[in-house]
Amino acid sequence: MTKGLVRNRDFLDLAKADPSPNAPLIDTFGRTISYLRLSVTDRCDLRCTYCMPERMTFLPKKEVLSLEELHDLALGFIDRGVTKIRITGGEPLVRRGIIGLFEALGQRLGYGLEELTLTTNATQLAGHAEALYKAGVRRVNISLDTLDRARFEELTRRDALPQVIEGITAAQEAGLRVKLNAVALKGVNEDELPDLIAWAHGLDHEVTLIEVMPLGDVEEERLDQYLPLSDVRSALEERWTLTDNAHKSGGPARYMDVAETGGRLGLITPHTNNFCDGCNRLRVTATGQLYPCLGGGERVDMRAALRSDDPQGELAKAFDQTMLIKPERHHFRMDERGAAPHLPRHMSMTGG
Ligand code: SAM
Ligand code: SF4
Repeated sequence: MTKGLVRNRDFLDLAKADPSPNAPLIDTFGRTISYLRLSVTDRCDLRCTYCMPERMTFLPKKEVLSLEELHDLALGFIDRGVTKIRITGGEPLVRRGIIGLFEALGQRLGYGLEELTLTTNATQLAGHAEALYKAGVRRVNISLDTLDRARFEELTRRDALPQVIEGITAAQEAGLRVKLNAVALKGVNEDELPDLIAWAHGLDHEVTLIEVMPLGDVEEERLDQYLPLSDVRSALEERWTLTDNAHKSGGPARYMDVAETGGRLGLITPHTNNFCDGCNRLRVTATGQLYPCLGGGERVDMRAALRSDDPQGELAKAFDQTMLIKPERHHFRMDERGAAPHLPRHMSMTGG
């Protein structure tokens, strides 16, 4: 653990002694917030074509929250009733010292925090899987859109499929439950989705498919990438028996069982099926900007609160303000008129 993270030990012990949270986070539509997605970096070692351009401009490091600030902020959320934290990015495992943050937050498991998890591209997971398990992580989401090495290189602009497979294997060996996320891309991995699902289910991994969202400028037209999951489901039903399953993961996916593979499949469908009613999530960028909606421009500056003379008081105000501005639903649209709204920030800023 880094020196700065130890600094919070007193606060941590205090919270363990009295884990009762302050006023819970409830928005103006009556939704209770229990889930934080915390981006720890906007940097990444891949360049997925739907996520960012090859020549991506990354944030100056001084604008990014320190590990200590990320830790303090996460504790603030736990204090207000957040029970699940997903560490994301960019690629969280490229952030130096990140395991220290997992170790520090892991100490709150059972003391307000119920689950600590991460989303990763798995290129560096082989070297970190055991440490993550030791820190208290039990499940990881791994992004993998293709099993074909040449296609992987085309899609991510890096030849890294062998490392990713190694990372997936290491995670399973370390005792982590693996869920694979794949973005469904028209004409790119469309033909391969059944094989990807069958492969994952054969290894006892769940799979979630995601519709592409119009976040940030990339080098391709969004509409050219967009593949409605209603079409994917119809195609899968010609091959397999799919039965809806009421399972809830805390995220926006709807689930179904695939009789022939014996596995579970989730669909995240911001366009073909809105999921905002039950939204329990908040997202914070690596610079401490809190976005109450992935698909909206509303934001609250948590970094200013953290760096103020009265961090606790200012954070409390910032949380209350967030609850007032969380919108009822996102306004993503992807149809023949195009992709909207145009949100300038990439998914790598707000995290998946
Ligand atoms: N680098 C990590 C990874 O790829 O898993 C974590 C961050 S990444 C931004 C989180 C998720 O967002 C990934 O599953 C990725 O496929 C997805 N994603 C990125 N850009 C997207 C977009 N424009 N639309 C839909 N999903 C996107
Ligand atoms: Fe990196 Fe994840 Fe974006 Fe791919 S989706 S470029 S792995 S942040």
